[in-house]
Amino acid sequence: MKEERNNIKLPSKFDDFNETRKNGFLKMKELKESGKNVAGIFCTYTPQEVIYAAGLIPVSLCATTEDSIKYAERDLPKNLCPLIKSSYGFAVSDTCPYFYFSDIIIGETTCDGKKKMYELMGDFKDVHVMQLPQNNTDELSFKLWTNEIYKLKRRLEEKFDVEITDEKLWEAIKIGNQERRNLKNFFELGKLNPSPLSGVTMSGTQDAFGFNFDREEKNKSIVEKTKEIYELWEKELKGKKTNRPRILITGCPVGGVREKILTRIEEAGADIVVYENCSGVREKLELIDETIENPIEAIAKKYLNLSCSVMTPNEKRFKDLDTLIDEYQVDAVIEIVLQACHTFAVESTKVKKFVTEKKGKPYMYIESDYSMTDVGQVSTRIEAFLEMI
Ligand code: SF4
Ligand code: SF4
Repeated sequence: MKEERNNIKLPSKFDDFNETRKNGFLKMKELKESGKNVAGIFCTYTPQEVIYAAGLIPVSLCATTEDSIKYAERDLPKNLCPLIKSSYGFAVSDTCPYFYFSDIIIGETTCDGKKKMYELMGDFKDVHVMQLPQNNTDELSFKLWTNEIYKLKRRLEEKFDVEITDEKLWEAIKIGNQERRNLKNFFELGKLNPSPLSGVTMSGTQDAFGFNFDREEKNKSIVEKTKEIYELWEKELKGKKTNRPRILITGCPVGGVREKILTRIEEAGADIVVYENCSGVREKLELIDETIENPIEAIAKKYLNLSCSVMTPNEKRFKDLDTLIDEYQVDAVIEIVLQACHTFAVESTKVKKFVTEKKGKPYMYIESDYSMTDVGQVSTRIEAFLEMI
């Protein structure tokens, strides 16, 4: 029989993703009315420090619901990643207030679908696309990416008539690094055993965090929450035993399949304790090196070293998986790949081999999209997998 989660009562001020996203609309409207400019972003590779140093507010654009996909499919092929279709659908139908408020969109040439989608988006919005190299170990790739960051800097300076000084960049880097440390500490609550926090709540909180535009308040709130949850864990859970398997999630971003897959995993009797993907610790594992003399080079180095499957080879992903599986005492790995995401789908063969042969842990691959049509099948597979552990 499956064991219930050892839930603790979460702090009352805990961010609900949908609520924070909605409240964010009003805050954004106020900020726009006060003369602030906004940059819409889609990906973890976007060097947010340059945006902040230009005095703009970066906002992650909506790409997690099925509703907007019907608009996208008028222009885009049906068999495209739902994340790309969802982003484009919101944009082309003008149904995302954050897109509407964005003065510029900053994209990167990550996967094929995304970079071609930006071309279409450029027909009705000001889109700046950064050329992301597909290799992150070569010296020339670093030079190219550094140059792309300079180009972004110049573009923002010209469009918004501002000067992005080294001083402003360093200030943005310091605040950004603090934010990374705080979020990493928050995610590390998942290392506690039994885990104090549902993995669904954990990923929702990370996404909700992006809709709080007051960086000081945001940092303060995440520190408070981490402390409160740790204290509650010490009081209510420390020393208790649980048989619930501890799961690491890897693969594509999972904001759009939270209900369909993540909730089912936890309802079926497991605890998601860590996300290796862009919905979790990936970007927080490495800080921007504050000892490098040139801030643009420091920013370039950090972002180029991200372990997304669009990079080839992508060795860092395996190093991170190795460490995270050990540090979070993971019992099994579930890889979630969005339909038609070729880079993650192909790389999954290596991930499976690494997890099963090198780490000796069970591995499960789920490929899905944002519709609920396969929810029954997904649930059955998850239950069977967890029973096997
Ligand atoms: S998975 Fe890759 S392409 Fe997608 S948001 Fe993350 S870094 Fe960007
Ligand atoms: S999930 Fe895959 S296909 Fe979709 S945007 Fe990210 S890298 Fe591209």
